[in-house]
Parts: sequence; structure tokens; C-alpha cells
Amino acid sequence: MEPRISRRDVLKIGGAAALGALGLSIGATSRADDKTEGAQAMAKTEGGIAIPGAFENGQYALPKLPYAYNALEPLHDGKALEIHHTKHHAGYVKGLNTTLEKLQAARKASDFAAVKALSRDLAFHGSGHVLHCLYWHSMCPGGAKVPDELAKAMNDGFGSLEGAQAQFAAATKAVEGSGWGVLAYEPVGDRLLILQAERHQNLTVWGVVPLLVCDVWEHAYYLQYANKRDDWVDNFMKLANWQFAAARLAAARANRTA
Ligand code: MN
Repeated sequence: MEPRISRRDVLKIGGAAALGALGLSIGATSRADDKTEGAQAMAKTEGGIAIPGAFENGQYALPKLPYAYNALEPLHDGKALEIHHTKHHAGYVKGLNTTLEKLQAARKASDFAAVKALSRDLAFHGSGHVLHCLYWHSMCPGGAKVPDELAKAMNDGFGSLEGAQAQFAAATKAVEGSGWGVLAYEPVGDRLLILQAERHQNLTVWGVVPLLVCDVWEHAYYLQYANKRDDWVDNFMKLANWQFAAARLAAARANRTA
């Protein structure tokens, strides 16, 4: 039986299954039975948006792969996969925890002199960790067919399944330098988008749900505050709607485990 992935499920798993379905429908050669088993295993490990083992005992952690290192051969070499997981991904996890410790120390000392560099480190290691967590689940032995509900969302968003897959592959190949191809759910328009991430951080951690935002483009404050951005931000803090942020937090937390 094919697993069914609803639009809500796509939101819940951050597009991971969608990426897996796309990536593995290209060039996969295994029997149809294997595809169904692989898809079912993937659906089982991804009942919510949380990735099992990626955060434990108050710290980010290196999750186990949902398959053996050699399980994707010959399309992906086992040794290469092991190095990627145990060296590169593990490095992001360590860097993320270390950066969070340094930020804690900065708050404690009320010393934010290094906040710019630490925020960059947070984005770099945080996105590295989150994207690799999604990446391992974006592949499965033998690949998986696109479930009907996801196929409908891809049809709605891109005109056809084939068009969506072609754009995903083309956008990924065309990433300038290092980076990622990303199939994503965009909640404001309730639709799918295909994006490129150059490198991967650019001061965000992929997968976060924004709760409260402050615009510091010059158009937001220059007419009134001119070059005094700090004054604008101090006054924004007096206007901040923490009730709105709290409601979004509750909704995001509900989606994480639903
Ligand atoms: Mn990598």
C-alpha cells in the first residue's frame, strides 16, 4: 500500500519526504516492491516534523541514518556516505552546540560584542545540521514513488509532476558553488516552491518557523529615524506583539508532533 502524504504532512516533515520522492525517482533502478518498502520505512520514521535522534538531552545530536551506509549502493557509495555522516554532519552538530554555549555565556555577561560572528556561526552550523538531517531522509534504498497527495501539490504548484521534477533537478544543478536544491512548503501562499540555497546558512537556519520579525531594511525606518537604526529597534521592542509570537509558537509546536 502506498503511503499517503497530505499537504499538512508536507509541512510537518519540512519537505523531506518530498525531496526524497523527487531525488529517488531519478535514476532509481530497484524493483517496485523495494520502492514501496523504502517509502513505508520513510513514512514510519517521519510521523512529525521532528527528526528522531537529532536533539537529545538538551543538546543537538547526530541522528542515526535510517538505513545502512551501503544501502544506497551503487548509486551512492557506502564509504562516502559514512564519511559525510560521521565527519561532516557530526562537525555541524558540534559547532552548533559550541556556538549556543558561547551565546549563553554572552547573555550571562551582558556582553554582545561578538553577537554578529556568533549569529553567523549559529546559522552555518544550525543549517548544516538541519539540512543534513533532512537529507538522509530525502533518500531511501530503491527510491519511492511520489504519493498522490504530493503529486497533486506538485501539479498545483508547478503545472505538472514532470515539470516540478525537471525544475528541481535543474535548480539543484545550477546552484552557484556549494549548496542545496530545496523543495519547500511556503505557508503564506499554501504552496510548494523550489529554491536554491547557496552554501547553506545566509543567516538563517532552514526549517525554522518565524515567530516575530523586525524589518531593518532602510525603507522601514529611514524616513523617520535616518541612520539611527538602533533607535528604531529600541522602539520596535516597545511595540512588539508577543501574543502573536506566542500563538505562532503554539501552532508550530502542535505541527511538530501531530
Ligand atoms: Mn554535506
